[in-house]
Amino acid sequence: MVTPACGDSDHFHDECGVFGVYGHPDAAALTALGLHALQHRGQEAAGIVTYDGEQFNAHRGMGLVGDNFSSKDVVAKLQGYSAIGHVRYATTGEVAMRNVQPLYFEIEYGGLAICHNGNLTNSYQLRRQLVKRGSLFHTTSDTEVINHLIATSHQGTIIDRLVDALRQVEGAYSLAALTQDSVIGVRDPLGVRPLVVGRLADAWIIASETCALDIIGAEFVRDVEPGEIVTADAEGLHSIKPFAHKSERFCIFEYIYFARPDSVVEGRSVYEVRKRIGEELARESAVDADIVVPVPDSGVPAAIGYAQESGIPFELGIIRNHYVGRTFIEPTDQIRNLGVRLKHNANRNLTGKRVILVDDSIVRGTTSRKIVEMVRNAGASEVHMRISSPPTTNSCFYGIATPDRDELLAARYNVDAMARLIGVDTLAFISIDGLYKAMGRPGRDDGAPRFCDACFTGDYPIPLVDAEDGKISVQLSLLAPA
Ligand code: SF4
Repeated sequence: MVTPACGDSDHFHDECGVFGVYGHPDAAALTALGLHALQHRGQEAAGIVTYDGEQFNAHRGMGLVGDNFSSKDVVAKLQGYSAIGHVRYATTGEVAMRNVQPLYFEIEYGGLAICHNGNLTNSYQLRRQLVKRGSLFHTTSDTEVINHLIATSHQGTIIDRLVDALRQVEGAYSLAALTQDSVIGVRDPLGVRPLVVGRLADAWIIASETCALDIIGAEFVRDVEPGEIVTADAEGLHSIKPFAHKSERFCIFEYIYFARPDSVVEGRSVYEVRKRIGEELARESAVDADIVVPVPDSGVPAAIGYAQESGIPFELGIIRNHYVGRTFIEPTDQIRNLGVRLKHNANRNLTGKRVILVDDSIVRGTTSRKIVEMVRNAGASEVHMRISSPPTTNSCFYGIATPDRDELLAARYNVDAMARLIGVDTLAFISIDGLYKAMGRPGRDDGAPRFCDACFTGDYPIPLVDAEDGKISVQLSLLAPA
């Protein structure tokens, strides 16, 4: 495993998204659409692999789904009734074509394509063992570790080999695999990352989020359960649960920020959860003000909840330009610092107002400081910031790209000091118990927390094998990225 990567944008970043289709003549086109709906989970690269009954067909590229799959010629080459696809934000491995998933390889039983969303926490250790035994690695992606474990397994079937491989890995992952006769979906035993099953006529779909089912008109069937392997083939959908039972720990940050608000995760509408977090926040940290203003777009549902609970009017006081590229492509600090002004502009309705700004998180604090400065320059008389997550005090090692811990503002300062640095009159975060209440729980059960909340609590539910071994930043390949 290499150190969690992060662009310069002041947010934790979505990790990756996976999508798969079994049993449809337009499998590749449906996969391209599904990946388009999952674009928020990764914008750096996209790939699709199909199987046409005789051979596998692959197309992968850097950039957005639309950059790679809007050409009819590209989709026409991806023949077949089954397909898997992936959108990527690099959490391990450098950003390079060789790491773009799905990864394809051939073993004793035929071809196999694999992609996953998440991060293996013992991939460096496993990779070292595999290289000693003669495995030849072509990428620096932790997904390839799974490929080699499957290839070197002595089990008899592909499913048994997959189970054998996954029993050796630690980590948080949702995985999609394509064989010559099936599409397979897997969630890790704690179910940290999401994965759902859908149905479109006779075809089976797997996807990271329900919004990817909606875009193709597929019906939601159910969540893949933690530790479950589902296989769609000519006989229908099969399920096994081959791993030792563990208490589930779904990523709570998916509800706060990563998942799309129109998705339903584990039976909860992401939008409704975000509104409830805003309501809790209003109860926990009320303040006299004239308007509630979201930091767009991710702060909008929580701001609606805050406004409804507090009775303070909701206003769009910050307008986001949707046509600005990501700040990380800007070359210098000076230009990069302009990023937030390129993206956001204050509305005229802030003049003379006491403003409650609602945002989903504070990571480094650079964006928050600029937004507050912009709101003050627009004439706000007071600025109170309310955050719909607890302070992010720890890095994520489970597939979310985060800065190192010492770059997290909340790891270095208490709330009062953060308020001064950001330049607000008051600052408050939702409490961890308040967050759990918004999930319909009485609060956080410290003895058996229901969710992964390690970036707020430091309570990591999956061993950080490589990190504890000091292997979070190692050179995995001598080949320069291309
Ligand atoms: S550490 Fe935070 S972002 Fe990472 S999986 Fe856990 S809750 Fe999600």
